[in-house]
Amino acid sequence: MNLLEKALNFLYPQTCGICNKICNEPICKKCELKLNKIINPNRKCFLPLKRNLL
Ligand SMILES: [Zn+2]
Repeated sequence: MNLLEKALNFLYPQTCGICNKICNEPICKKCELKLNKIINPNRKCFLPLKRNLL
């Protein structure tokens, strides 16, 4: 990392795109987990419900 990059990182630290917390990634681990749950819900939880309905 050169001096310019260091200065840019200091002035404009990379923040989470969702909660705006400073982190090294575009999305922090917490929000990544939340997103994963929304995008890939645990389908095993829904199977017993479906069986009861049928
Ligand atoms: Zn976040």
